[in-house]
Amino acid sequence: MTVPACKKDSDRRIKKFHRQEVGHSARDILSDKDYKSISVEIIFMSGFRPTDQAIENLKQLITSTCNKPDGIRLVFKEITAQGKTSYSIDDVKTLENNHREEFTYKKDLAVCFLFLDGPSNENQGSSMVLGHAYYNTSMVIYEKSLQDNSGGFGEPELYKLETTVMNHEFGHILGLVNLGSAMYNLHQDAAHGSHCDNSNCLMHWEVETGSIFSNLVGNSPIPVFDQNCLRDLHENGGK
Ligand SMILES: [Zn+2]
Ligand SMILES: [Zn+2]
Repeated sequence: MTVPACKKDSDRRIKKFHRQEVGHSARDILSDKDYKSISVEIIFMSGFRPTDQAIENLKQLITSTCNKPDGIRLVFKEITAQGKTSYSIDDVKTLENNHREEFTYKKDLAVCFLFLDGPSNENQGSSMVLGHAYYNTSMVIYEKSLQDNSGGFGEPELYKLETTVMNHEFGHILGLVNLGSAMYNLHQDAAHGSHCDNSNCLMHWEVETGSIFSNLVGNSPIPVFDQNCLRDLHENGGK
């Protein structure tokens, strides 16, 4: 005789799936073996919704790297801006706990982005953290820092900054670099954690810091995955 799991048990299991370390679900996100579609929940504080163009660029990145024959679903959720001076990762985790509604279910894998009205508490002077992947399906973007450093003279356009940081954090949950997706060629810049040694690659460590601002000005292209990163995604279940 089988005993059906009660609602509480299944809730707990769903939450547990989303409380693994970054890179843990890389293969699930990349391949179509267990999950045929992906839901992207965009939780943003009022006034800090990412631009449509950046969302479109993220969709393109997912389409070009992940095998999801049933497609990509976007869910937007606006929440009250908190007005805090800065946010710690614990603050971010609490916000996710309170507001996230999309969880992996049957053949659909869910990931979430939070867009905040304040900076990271890890900023020190000119050294800034613009985004962070902190669980296997969870990412935060310090949208206020992006807004504050874009659109002016000598500054990049906002959508370019958003695209760069969102795609970089998504690269981490895809297991880059050496973070759940095994390296085909050695290209990890271990001195800077799970990043790529190619300074032109989307997964270079400077991409999620303030150093990226000057690199995106004018007609400078938005960074993309280099050959080594693309190869890793392909070898670990991706396109
Ligand atoms: Zn990074
Ligand atoms: Zn790379």
